[in-house]
Amino acid sequence: MKNLYILIFLINYSIVFSQIKVEEANPPVNIPIKLSGNFGELRSSGFHSGIDIKTLGREGVEIKSIDNGYVSRISISLSGFGKAIYITHPNGFTSVYAHLSRFNDDIEKLIQALQYQKKSFVINKFFKRDEIIIEKNDIIGYSGNTGSSFGPHLHFEIRKSTENLPINPLRFGYPIEDTIPPSLRGLFLYKIGDKPNKRRKINIKKISANKYQSETIKANGSFGFGVISNDRQNKSYNINGTYNYKLIKNGKKEFEIEFDNFSFNEKTYQMKFMDYGYYVDRRDRLIKIFNENKLNATFIKSNKTGIINVNENDSIKIKVILSDYSKNETQINVNFVGTKDSLNFYYDDLSNFNFFVNKSDDFSFSKNGALVKIKKNTFNSDTFLDIKYFKDTLHLINPKVYAFKAIEISMPQKVKNKKKSYVAYINDEGEKTFATKINIDNKFKFKTNSLGKFYVDIDSIAPNIKSLDRKNKISFEITDDETGVKKYDVFVNGNWHLFEYEPKRNEIFCDLTSIDIYGKEVNLEVIIEDLVGNKKTLIKKLAF
Ligand SMILES: [Zn+2]
Repeated sequence: MKNLYILIFLINYSIVFSQIKVEEANPPVNIPIKLSGNFGELRSSGFHSGIDIKTLGREGVEIKSIDNGYVSRISISLSGFGKAIYITHPNGFTSVYAHLSRFNDDIEKLIQALQYQKKSFVINKFFKRDEIIIEKNDIIGYSGNTGSSFGPHLHFEIRKSTENLPINPLRFGYPIEDTIPPSLRGLFLYKIGDKPNKRRKINIKKISANKYQSETIKANGSFGFGVISNDRQNKSYNINGTYNYKLIKNGKKEFEIEFDNFSFNEKTYQMKFMDYGYYVDRRDRLIKIFNENKLNATFIKSNKTGIINVNENDSIKIKVILSDYSKNETQINVNFVGTKDSLNFYYDDLSNFNFFVNKSDDFSFSKNGALVKIKKNTFNSDTFLDIKYFKDTLHLINPKVYAFKAIEISMPQKVKNKKKSYVAYINDEGEKTFATKINIDNKFKFKTNSLGKFYVDIDSIAPNIKSLDRKNKISFEITDDETGVKKYDVFVNGNWHLFEYEPKRNEIFCDLTSIDIYGKEVNLEVIIEDLVGNKKTLIKKLAF
């Protein structure tokens, strides 16, 4: 993999297969690399754009730059990557280290100055190439659990700098012992035709450690295959995603998906290849090894669709091959016999839903001042939706479709307390969240990718602030029952003071050492504002 090789084929619908040249790099940690997540695996927000490296189950593991370069970006966010550092290397790659607990002392100082300047813990700063020079193996920070991380680990990415294109970090030569082939948890047959996602589970029998034989399929028509599979490595029990999916028909490759790289705008293509209805029903990710929409994407390594046409009297041998990055393989053999038989298939019956949305047309709904605008290609296929505006609640429902584009909604503002009113969103599980409070000419206008129920509600309850007892820290629990915390500020003797915020614990905190306390009385003023603007202030005196 170390040599330059670019393979370019221009075929049918101009799919370009290209392999980006990579070079070896140092590991980002000094401990053995064990993965709790791998590149391209199926996640709730789309394909995973990096690898998740285990950090001994704790925070504070030294994180090192994989190569010489410069810090090109630092971001601190409350969700997503949390505290993250981006290092751009002269060889054309940028490495990204996320969910950190803190940066190294020099970077901490620089970032704190920016935070005080902006009076904000949250920050997103880009740097020029001569500002923070980094050498290979420099400690750039310490592992943590910040942002949308639910357990200490390092989310690590390597991107091609010019196109901001995530590349499978394993291609950079990190040794990970792996002799375990991907596991197969289910094989599915899809009937291509009138309805999307017509599927049927296929019986399979294990015939050796990594080989399966399916029942003989007797049918005719056009079909595709889908699998549920996982992969893990020898030194960790974490269940990760499969690297490569191949479909072979009578010895010839019909379709292939491989996660060497993809682009960020292909991240949600996962929802096109994953059976979304199955995911909603079972919370399990079933991936289709065929390209019914003839999508052109970097992770698709085939110009064919993988759709198998079976005529009467045909005899077709199919092999589904799942492999990991170390080339361990699991093989499933399927025999197709073309007969007059017609098999039964499951499909999502959505005929009770009152509106039909043609995938390739714009759609709009309006009633009593409520308006919904759905752009063409918002959904992957033609679909039905339940849409009504009833008792001041807008229903926009079909739990089994994924919206690839934002839907425009406008709703009348009817309640009297205009200042404290907002649009509440209720999802399929009944969870209520804040959608918007932007209100122009007595109409709420907003965009959303979420289907569910929307109604206008009032939040007149101020947030709560509670002082917490933490060793060597000043700490407060901040909560808001209705819409949530929008903003927090802490003033020490009248001056804005930097407090970190960990929304997962509803906690804001700072080190006691950051405050000059000796021989003085310290006045703390904590101000919390919720999403509609209700404020709460807590004043606390500290005497030492
Ligand atoms: Zn990750």
